[in-house]
Amino acid sequence: MARVTFEQAQKFVRSTKGIKMFSFEPGKIYDVIFLGTPVEGKEGKYEPIMYMNPIHTIRKDGRTLTVRCANEKYNISNVVRRDENGEIAIDPVTKKPFNDGTCPYCEVNKIYGNMIFKQKEKFLTEHPDATKEEIKEFFRTKFSKVPVSAFTPTYVYLVAVLEVGANGKVSTDSEGNKQYEIVGMKFSEHAIKNKLMAQVELARMGTNDPNDDGIAWHEFYFRYPKPDPNKFRPDQIKQQSGKDLTISVVNNPVLKSDPEFFEELKTEVSKLDLEAIEEQITIYKLKTLDEMERDVEVQMSLIKENMTDEEIEEAKQKMQKEDKGEAVFKEKEYGITEVTDEDIESLL
Ligand SMILES: [Zn+2]
Repeated sequence: MARVTFEQAQKFVRSTKGIKMFSFEPGKIYDVIFLGTPVEGKEGKYEPIMYMNPIHTIRKDGRTLTVRCANEKYNISNVVRRDENGEIAIDPVTKKPFNDGTCPYCEVNKIYGNMIFKQKEKFLTEHPDATKEEIKEFFRTKFSKVPVSAFTPTYVYLVAVLEVGANGKVSTDSEGNKQYEIVGMKFSEHAIKNKLMAQVELARMGTNDPNDDGIAWHEFYFRYPKPDPNKFRPDQIKQQSGKDLTISVVNNPVLKSDPEFFEELKTEVSKLDLEAIEEQITIYKLKTLDEMERDVEVQMSLIKENMTDEEIEEAKQKMQKEDKGEAVFKEKEYGITEVTDEDIESLL
């Protein structure tokens, strides 16, 4: 057994386990500090540590999962695995490419959308006098859940999270040291635009510093309310709380009141391997083609029950021609994959 300091142990744990994603509890308030790194050549300027990749939301075994999109077209970083000769690398076990730039999630999303249109045509032939309401009802009963959302860019910021107690103070251990965790915090484009940016703007204006972007080394309260248990099912509570999240600037930031703590965080950040972290963020982990195909096996068999091989092939061909897909189902806020009236309306 090796003797290590607590610090070494933490670093080791972090490098093997990767960066954990933030998870909230409804009814709690968190003090969220956006970590920053110095911008080279610009004295005193910091930028937030942010990662961006396309992801899908899929339903598997009754659960909603967030997975990385493997489509070469939608990724900035390289997603194609090649061998030393530059050829697409083949997995010796499955005899399939590990990653060839295609994405089974994108495929299922498109083919499934195509299948719904076909079903609609069939329904209309069988019920030529159907009213708009009846057609809507048909969609509602048949497709209440979206199996795979269209790809959507998702942002992960590295943040330090402190819990805020009922007394309004951040939580500390028995010796008075602030308890915090460095985690990845996921934001959809929707959440950034509609929840975060207005507060960032306030933070930026409060500084009078043109070098300050209002994010890096700024602190915000994230309040997750407790939804009324009479109005929501237990499995809807967390989702609803996330929807009702409010973000606000912290007026008395701990970074100001506790400069030592600020220094401690800066040291922590300087020790992180920021390049390697992208690979460690679980939602960004690229699965192999085989793993992805297994994720959408159930959806694929449903498609195969409803479509001929030719129709599937045709849908795939059509997909390749489109540069950016006209996605049938866009991922909703916080990865909700319920079909809304709006979706159904767009299908008519
Ligand atoms: Zn994809």
